Amino acid sequence: VNPGLEPVRKALQDLSIEDNPAIVKQKSRDFFWYSPVLKKQLDRVTGDLVVTPRTEDEVIRVLKACFEHDVPVTVRGAGTGNYGQAMPLAGGVVLNLAELNKIKEIGPGRVVCEAGALISAIDDATRPGGQELRLHPSTYRTATIGGFIAGGSGGIGSIRWGGLRDLGNVISARVITMEAEPRILDMTGADLAKVLHAYGTNGVITEVEMPLTAAYDWVDVIAGFDTFMDAARFADALGMQDGILLKELGVISAPIPHDYFLRHRKYLRPDQSVCVMMVAPFAMPALAAFAEHRKADLVYRADTAEADEKKGLPPVFELSWNHTTLRGLRVDSTITYLQILYPYPDQMKKVDAMTKLFGDELPGHLEFVRFDGNVTCFGLPVVRYTSDERLEEIIRLHEEAGCPVFNPHRYTLEEGGMKQTDEQQLAFKRESDPKGLLNPGKMIAWDDPDFDFSADGPFLFQGLR
Ligand code: FAD
Repeated sequence: VNPGLEPVRKALQDLSIEDNPAIVKQKSRDFFWYSPVLKKQLDRVTGDLVVTPRTEDEVIRVLKACFEHDVPVTVRGAGTGNYGQAMPLAGGVVLNLAELNKIKEIGPGRVVCEAGALISAIDDATRPGGQELRLHPSTYRTATIGGFIAGGSGGIGSIRWGGLRDLGNVISARVITMEAEPRILDMTGADLAKVLHAYGTNGVITEVEMPLTAAYDWVDVIAGFDTFMDAARFADALGMQDGILLKELGVISAPIPHDYFLRHRKYLRPDQSVCVMMVAPFAMPALAAFAEHRKADLVYRADTAEADEKKGLPPVFELSWNHTTLRGLRVDSTITYLQILYPYPDQMKKVDAMTKLFGDELPGHLEFVRFDGNVTCFGLPVVRYTSDERLEEIIRLHEEAGCPVFNPHRYTLEEGGMKQTDEQQLAFKRESDPKGLLNPGKMIAWDDPDFDFSADGPFLFQGLR
């Protein structure tokens, strides 16, 4: 037991503190169990106390007390991260930001809100003024904006706007450091890269300013195809149509849609692969023309479906990104998934090669995104998991074929391959968290003095050099 816990509890006794072990365990867990590898490693991990601040001042008090008494702090938004990002490996305080959720200001093209605001609640506040967030994860209804920035990467909207890694998709963040006298940093521009996808290892984000774009009543559309590659080529061509405004463009191989999208099953044949889309209402005639030209069968379109028929159907974004895997896990708990980049301009060749190589061991799932100005796709294939060794082999075979894998079966920043730590990133951690108390165990560069920064993978979130 950490001897600092009692003095911390005493110092914070007027705050909302939970110490019931069952509730603390529940609030310590995220979606790490998505991965059979992480499930074995993290299942027993739990914090000691959950503290739920309501104001930034309370956050500062928690950090100050924990710093003084050497108690680790792991920030929690909604705990929907699926790489174990929010798992408190060293115990201590789980800093639950769910109540730090005010929307503070809405202006043309921008919103300022506290970090614990639910992403859907931000859109609920901005939509009456005709604006919405550019990007959201498929966990739109459950995740917080702070958790998205600190633990996510992109998702719905990335076909138009790219990802969180791209300059301009976050305007600014207020970050509290973990020091004897915590400082408040207002981070903008290139500085933001320090805290984006850093798992809360170098500061607590209390407030963010996000860009907004025009809001539409996006139309959910599903097109059916005889083969996965037909669906993939359709999406690849559609993604290049700059005039057809889309918010989501994903492709999922048979038999996944029929077997796992239970509420949409009535629209799907078992052997059908699909393309799921969110289309601006005014772009529907153009989309229909494009689909007809390409012989795509629009098996479902929300703008013409009867209200009765639509009742009970989840939005198509909850069939996409990591929700595809979630729906699969509900039907077959033995599956898992991978995250792959098919680099432009050879994305279709590479997808085709990997589809031929793995067949039904890896039913395909592509998400089309704008990546450094070009439209290409990420793969989030379902993996019919057999062993850790085979999973490693599948990763190696992708990498040998020039398809980088962002390994979702690792909980450290470096091994996940998304965020590059370098001397600058480490120097910032020394400044912002000199005792290494923020989310310990997630940054190898901090834990291992001999860490070799030379690894030069195609990190999604580049280093600061
Ligand atoms: P949490 O899981 O609570 O936290 C994520 C990380 O950020 C943790 O390391 C935590 O310590 C840290 N953190 C949280 N809040 C703060 C803060 N205020 N300051 C500093 N650090 C903080 N991700 C995507 O990018 N795109 C997707 O489309 C997507 N789809 C998903 C679908 C499913 C079904 C699941 C389970 C996950 C998905 N994810 C996706 C991953 C996850 O949902 C997102 O990353 C999400 O935005 C995390 O938000 P959260 O509030 O749950 O954060």
